[in-house]
Amino acid sequence: MLKRVLIANRGEIACRIIRACQNLGVETVAVYGLADSESLHVRMADRSVCIGPGPNSDTYLNMPNVLMAALTTQCDAIHPGYGYFSEQSQFADACHAVGLKFIGPPVEAISRMGDKAAAKAAAIRAHCPVVPGSEGCVHHLEDALEIAREIGFPVLVKAAAGGGGRGIRKVAREEEMDEAFKIASQEALASFGSGDLYIEKLIESPRHVEIQVLADAFGNCIHLGERECSVQNLRHQKMIEEAPCAVIDDELRRKMGESAVRLAKSVGYVNAGTVEFLLDSSNNFYFIEMNTRLQVEHPITEQVTGVDIVEQMLRIASGEELPFEQHDIAIQGHSIEARITAQNPAKEFAPSCGKITHWAPPSGPHIRLETHVYKGFAVSPFYDPMIAKLIVSDSDRQSCVRSLARALEQFDVQGIHTNIPFLRTLVATPEFVSGDVDTQFVARYVSEPSPVA
Ligand code: ADP
Ligand code: ADP
Ligand code: MG
Repeated sequence: MLKRVLIANRGEIACRIIRACQNLGVETVAVYGLADSESLHVRMADRSVCIGPGPNSDTYLNMPNVLMAALTTQCDAIHPGYGYFSEQSQFADACHAVGLKFIGPPVEAISRMGDKAAAKAAAIRAHCPVVPGSEGCVHHLEDALEIAREIGFPVLVKAAAGGGGRGIRKVAREEEMDEAFKIASQEALASFGSGDLYIEKLIESPRHVEIQVLADAFGNCIHLGERECSVQNLRHQKMIEEAPCAVIDDELRRKMGESAVRLAKSVGYVNAGTVEFLLDSSNNFYFIEMNTRLQVEHPITEQVTGVDIVEQMLRIASGEELPFEQHDIAIQGHSIEARITAQNPAKEFAPSCGKITHWAPPSGPHIRLETHVYKGFAVSPFYDPMIAKLIVSDSDRQSCVRSLARALEQFDVQGIHTNIPFLRTLVATPEFVSGDVDTQFVARYVSEPSPVA
């Protein structure tokens, strides 16, 4: 087993990873920005190292400082969490170069899947169905138009290096392509350092369904079933996720799972990863991308499979073989996660910062709360607005939805605005209650302009 792990992240996920390390007797080192010094992850770790003042660029994205912190505290590995360096192959490479293990997939798998157009090409080679679109990136307007005419409007122009719901633009008609193509390319260059774009057919009102995979370094690769992530804001960011998906039966789960495993194996994948698909109203599924990291919504899969995904990540990185095979994995019960954010739904979801004066989350046997905040904690403007994940589990979907509604009713936060009132509204809608959701569901309940992340 690993001896000492540096967690190159903050917030709830840093706490989650520290807890998994503690369970395995692995020592932990937290890094933090000064603006984040009161965060729970700093208190929970065995040691902590301040790596800069506040903003992400000076701290959690400061590669030399993060690596130096790991080396000076004699860590043998780094867990990147999600976001930040988790999908940057240069970071994984740099870890290896200075003798640290990167708790995640091999560098080649990260770089291959990090380019979403290249990932689609890999999916085609692995015989996974993909959304119709350009083969690889498109560099000229005329080519974009030709492909769009071929597959039919509306289409999406997508940034090959995009992520977090950003870098996706809808083009409804031929006349819109010129401007969309130019703006998307400029935006992608500014946000992701690459202006490369690809074209994809817009699937009308699909579900977003993703498969969790786990692979060890000995060629064993399994899936842990699906997560339904269709409840997204207007910026394609997930708000509520659940497992299993209401419309997926054993046969479809097996097919999607086998596709995901085939793709992972074909790129030499090791460790935890997620293969994302769109599911249309006829239950056809299409690969859209692979996230080569721990996913925000991983707890719902843990709840219904009993597998501790972060523990497995640590075990795989330390060279252990997967302790189970595909036939050992069974889905039991139902689990739903709601992302609690410090945003004001009444003010177009503007970030809400300041001191939490009252913090009374729900509790009980069905509740799991992942958070780094507490009463008296000051939410900083520097970081992501997510302050907690509320995970509710129950024997079946209906009971789970009811438990979730009750838990959200009980969740009392004061001092800052949160999205809790909005979540309460969503989970009471007939569509959500019956499981009849697609990626356009939230849009029907919010008016323009779009929520801000
Ligand atoms: P997942 O794919 O695990 O469900 P997301 O795609 O929502 O999670 O987010 C993955 C990472 O991207 C997280 O670290 C999140 O903080 C970050 N992220 C999400 N949305 C944005 C955004 N609008 N700007 C910057 N980072 C974001
Ligand atoms: P990101 O890398 O930002 O997570 P994805 O490619 O995973 O981007 O897409 C994010 C979301 O955008 C999807 O969950 C879905 O809601 C929407 N989306 C992406 N591609 C399509 C498509 N071809 N048709 C319809 N919706 C799409
Ligand atoms: Mg995605």
